[in-house]
Amino acid sequence: MYANFLKGLFRGVIDVYPDLKGKRVVVTGGASGIGFATAERFILEGCRVAVFDRDEEALEHTKRTLSGLELGIKADVSSEAEVERAFAVLDQAFGGVDILISNAGISVRNKFINIGASQWDKVLSVNLKGMFLCSREAAKRMLDQGKGVILMTASTNGMEGHPLYADYNASKAGVILLTKTLALEFAPIIRVNSVSPGYVLTPMQKAEYTPEMLEEVNKKIPFKRHAQPEEVAALFAFLASSEASYITGANIPIDGGETAGLV
Ligand code: NAD
Repeated sequence: MYANFLKGLFRGVIDVYPDLKGKRVVVTGGASGIGFATAERFILEGCRVAVFDRDEEALEHTKRTLSGLELGIKADVSSEAEVERAFAVLDQAFGGVDILISNAGISVRNKFINIGASQWDKVLSVNLKGMFLCSREAAKRMLDQGKGVILMTASTNGMEGHPLYADYNASKAGVILLTKTLALEFAPIIRVNSVSPGYVLTPMQKAEYTPEMLEEVNKKIPFKRHAQPEEVAALFAFLASSEASYITGANIPIDGGETAGLV
């Protein structure tokens, strides 16, 4: 808590990417894990940050603990009405958006044969339709203002097969192609890129592990460890900054070597 208070006082002091200062940033799924760390990183870079999340309790906790956060808006990214309302609230507060980090996502471990149509629809709705809805609202505003950056959280699961996550994998492969398509439609006005984390130690991931499972998974990763959410946040900060001014339509793995090839 005290550490967060201090970070709030030092808002804007990281200053790795000075051009980010004052930028209006939306992070979806920002009340936990990668999204939380990303919201925190952009606050420290001196941005004005809004978090969209559907989990009211986690959102309240985020508002209390993430010093410097300007807005926390309850919204389900898979609902067109809720996404439109959230952007309308954002317009009132910030007058628009410069950077969208479309990150909210869910996963359910299940054998393909046991996946019901409702599970399939739910995972695809949050992970893919949610990216479509949020990108569309952000892009309208960015096209009007003549610039912007859209970044999406895909996954290494969208790049190669992983058993027991057929719906999740399909949704993330969709995110990668959605990214490339938007990059082409919006070039050179809006840069659009996706980030594909491998294993990141977040609440989503921890919930699925016993300590033995964690050890087993670590053995499979060339770096022998999971990523920290802050490492993914650092990639988002770079991609949002002018240092990445010629990068668009890319999907960048951040996976400790997981997709580099066979060990
Ligand atoms: P997390 O569960 O810690 O956080 C996800 C956040 O998204 C939560 O706050 C949750 O309330 C919110 N959310 C879920 N559904 C939502 C909806 N419909 N509308 C709005 N908010 C919603 O998960 P995380 O590990 O930080 O994952 C973040 C993103 O990273 C996801 O897209 C996930 O697929 C992706 N990812 C995670 C890993 C990993 O190892 N953790 C690896 C690759 C990709």
